[in-house]
Amino acid sequence: MLQKEQQKRIFLSAPHMSGKEMNYINNAFETNWIAPLGPNVDAFEKEIANYVGVSEAVAVSSGTAAIHLALSLLDVKKGDIVFCSTLTFVASANPILYQGAEPVFIDSEPETWNMSPQALEKALKDSFMNGSLPKAVIVVNLYGQIAKMDEIVSLCNQYDVPIIEDAAESLGSTYKGKASGTFGKFGVFSFNGNKIITTSSGGMLVSNDVEAIKKARFLATQAKDPALHYQHSAIGFNYRMSNILAGIGRAQLEVLEQRVQARRLLFDRYNQGLCAIPGVQFMPELKDTKSNRWLTALTLDEKVTGASVYSIINALAEENIEARPVWKPLHMQPLFKGVDYFAHSENTSVSESLFNSGLCLPSGSNMSEEDQMRVIKCIEELLKLKV
Ligand SMILES: *Cc1c(COP(=O)(O)O)cnc(C)c1O
Repeated sequence: MLQKEQQKRIFLSAPHMSGKEMNYINNAFETNWIAPLGPNVDAFEKEIANYVGVSEAVAVSSGTAAIHLALSLLDVKKGDIVFCSTLTFVASANPILYQGAEPVFIDSEPETWNMSPQALEKALKDSFMNGSLPKAVIVVNLYGQIAKMDEIVSLCNQYDVPIIEDAAESLGSTYKGKASGTFGKFGVFSFNGNKIITTSSGGMLVSNDVEAIKKARFLATQAKDPALHYQHSAIGFNYRMSNILAGIGRAQLEVLEQRVQARRLLFDRYNQGLCAIPGVQFMPELKDTKSNRWLTALTLDEKVTGASVYSIINALAEENIEARPVWKPLHMQPLFKGVDYFAHSENTSVSESLFNSGLCLPSGSNMSEEDQMRVIKCIEELLKLKV
């Protein structure tokens, strides 16, 4: 027992510094740019915009803040409807409530685990018939995999509804060579401690609409009118990113490609190690897309494996290994009780079955091969496969 407790903890997704972060932080201190603006912020915005290939980016305090700004810019207000992927972290939808608007949740489809174009089409048709088209559609790219953007963009264009792409988990992923975060009117990234690159906390809003990002910068800085005497005519926020944290982000962005490679390698090793177990299926990667594989996710057919997701998570926890279920769909959350939901088809709720069978494995880019083998062995033993 004692020996077990001494086993090194393996985290789901731990921060992974490059070693260059302190150079940028030291420079901020030496020049006394200790503020939610400064040269690191300006440079980090330009570097992200260049990296994903958009005109403009604004660095903010979190991914959640970036989604909130996007909704404000689209003038989402009380009584408006906003569609959102259901299989996601609550942060995708909380800003809808901040604006007093009403979410409607859209199911996943099996090939990407992301927004089902089929369900979206039905939801758009219905709302068009009711004269209540949504003000925006928030499309989430789960665990690094980009949604079926060709279909989703085409449907939203048909009804003239803008897309906010929640790319918090998919920085570094591509769809037909185009970067994640660039498919909608707005794209959102997160640099929270668990994401593929981190500033400890932070986010970025990107767009090709230069004026909109200019306005986002204004709103995120308390919406100060251009007057000396503290004048305000719009509701503002205090959402800018610190110049110190932007320094961390610059150093992290330099190694993003390596981080993507490392996470994809982890996925490949898990896949090789576990795919032979009957009832185990890994999250697919859609043709012509490249996922950053932020988290390795799989499903377990409990009838075949004989073990539930929870029994595996608990058994791994005993070995000091952190694993998690996939996100609990938002339409199943007490917070969103009574909210409208469009399933993939009449008899199939894909997100619910993914929630019941999905497991996320430790996927930190700084996890050693030896640690990963510990995870694989543990799961193999649980599922009684002797190799
Ligand atoms: C992390 C995350 C967010 C929120 O980002 P924060 O920077 O933590 O506010 C939003 N959406 C998804 C899908 C996320 O995973």
